[in-house]
Amino acid sequence: MDTNLPVSAHPRVVIIGCGFGGLRLAKALRKAPVQVVVIDRNNYHNFQPLLYQVATGALEADSIAYPIRKIFAGQKNFFYRMADVHSVDPAANTVITSVGNIRYDYLVLATGSLTNFFGLESIERNAMQIKSIPNALNLRSFIFQNFEKALLTENPEERQALLNIVVVGGGPTGVEISGSLAEMRKHVLPKDYPELDLQHMQIFLVEAGPALLGPMSPASQADAKRYLDELGVKVMLNTSIKNFEDNRAYYTDNEFIATENLVWAAGVNGAEVPGLPADVVTRNKRINVNLWNQVEGLNNVFAIGDVANMVTDDMPRGLPMLAPVAQQHADHLAANLQRLLRGETPKDFVYNNKGSMAIVSRNKAVVDLPKNIHFNGFFGWATWLFVHLMTLVGFRNKVVAFIDWAFSYFSTDQALRLIIRPFSRRDVKDDKGKKSAEHRTATAEYNPTPPAIQEPA
Ligand SMILES: Cc1cc2nc3c(=O)[nH]c(=O)nc-3n(C[C@H](O)[C@H](O)[C@H](O)COP(=O)(O)OP(=O)(O)OC[C@H]3O[C@@H](n4cnc5c(N)ncnc54)[C@H](O)[C@@H]3O)c2cc1C
Repeated sequence: MDTNLPVSAHPRVVIIGCGFGGLRLAKALRKAPVQVVVIDRNNYHNFQPLLYQVATGALEADSIAYPIRKIFAGQKNFFYRMADVHSVDPAANTVITSVGNIRYDYLVLATGSLTNFFGLESIERNAMQIKSIPNALNLRSFIFQNFEKALLTENPEERQALLNIVVVGGGPTGVEISGSLAEMRKHVLPKDYPELDLQHMQIFLVEAGPALLGPMSPASQADAKRYLDELGVKVMLNTSIKNFEDNRAYYTDNEFIATENLVWAAGVNGAEVPGLPADVVTRNKRINVNLWNQVEGLNNVFAIGDVANMVTDDMPRGLPMLAPVAQQHADHLAANLQRLLRGETPKDFVYNNKGSMAIVSRNKAVVDLPKNIHFNGFFGWATWLFVHLMTLVGFRNKVVAFIDWAFSYFSTDQALRLIIRPFSRRDVKDDKGKKSAEHRTATAEYNPTPPAIQEPA
C-alpha cells in the first residue's frame, strides 16, 4: 500500500508515537531542514497522568486528549499517518506499518510503554488496566455497571465482590486512583445509591514493596499512607497478588480478596518495535541507547522517552519512565539531529530532575523537589493541579479541566458517571491463536437479568 507522502529535497525524520516525546520532537523540528513524518495508531495525543480522573468520572475523556492534526496545523514540514507500526527494517531504512511501508533517513522510536503483567496470565486476562483512554472509559463503565448489579443481588457475598475494588501497585497511579475512588465512595456514591450500604464497599491498595510511592522521599511515602488510611483505603504492603480468577484476588495460595474489580497498576514494559537487533532490547523491553539517544549499533535510529533505556552516572538502572524525561529527550534530540545535519558532533544528554509529585485526594498531595525539599497538604494539592493544568495540551482542554475540577471541588460531586459504552470481559485470541489481554465492549452482552415483575393478584 502507498502511504502517499510527498517527495522532499530534505532528509525524512520518521517518528513512531505522538506521546509526550514524539509530539515535542516533531514540534521542535518545525524550522529544521527536514521532512517530519509522525506515525501513531491514535489520531490524538493522550495526557496519561490524568487517565485515572477519566476512570473515576472526574474529567471528560475529551479534555485529556488532543487531535494530532490540530496540534500541527500550519507546520509545513509535518506529515501524519494514522497507522499501527508492525516492525522496522533497519537494513532497508524502512518502517512496516498497517497502511504500508515508510522509508526514513532518520528513525525515532517514541512508542512509550505497555502494562507489564509479569507473565501472570489470569491477571492479564481478567484485570482492568489504565494505560489508554479506552482503558479508562472501560474502568469507569465497569465500576458503575457493578454497582447497578450489586443492587440486583440478594446474595451478600456476591454483592461484596461487586462493590470491592482492589488496586495493585503502590506507585503514583495506584495511590491516585485509590484516593479518588475513596472520595467517590464518600461524596458521590451515597447520593446515587442510597439503597446500598457503602460500608461494604472496600478499597484495597496492594503493594509488593515495603512502602508506597517507591522512588519518592520517605516523608512523601509516609504522608501518602496516612492520607489513604484517613480515607479508609486498606493499604496492604509487602503483599503481591499472584492470581485473579473467579472473582478472587489471591495474595497467597489460599488467601484472597473477593472482588470483581481488580485494577492492575503494578508496572510497565517498554513498547518495543520488532525488527531491532535482539541485543539492544532489555529484559523489560526497553531499547538501549547512548547519551545521544542513538540505538546501540544503528547510526540513524534513535529512541526517546519510556521506550529508551538510557543509563547515566546518577541513574545506573536507566532514567525513569516519566513525561519530563521524554520531553527533555525530545528537545535534546531535536538539537542533535540538526547538529548531525550540519556535520557537527552531537552533545551528550544531561537529565534535569525537576522533582516528582502525587495527589491523593482533595487538599492532599505530596511533592518532592530537588535539594530534599518536600511539601504536602493543600499547597501540594494546589501545585499538582497547577502543573497538570498548565501541561495539558490545548486551551480548550485547560478550560474544561479547570471547570470540571472547580465544579467537583465546590459541589463535592462528579458529573461523569454515565455508562455510555458498557464493558464486558471475555477472552479473545489474536490471529496466532494466543490469548490476549484485550477487553471488548459489547452493548449486547451487558444484560443483567432484571428481577421478575410480580403480576398483581
Ligand atoms: C496512568 C498513568 C499516570 C502517569 N502519571 C504520570 C505523572 O503524574 N507524571 C509523569 O511524569 N509521568 C506520568 N506517567 C508516565 C508518562 O505518561 C510517560 O512517562 C510518558 O507518557 C512517556 O512519553 P513517551 O513519549 O515515551 O510515550 P507515550 O506518551 O506513551 O506515547 C507513546 C505513543 O506511541 C504510540 N504507539 C506506541 N506503539 C505504537 C505502534 N506500534 N504503532 C503506532 N503507534 C504506537 C501510542 O499510541 C502513543 O501515542 C503516567 C503514566 C500513566 C499510564
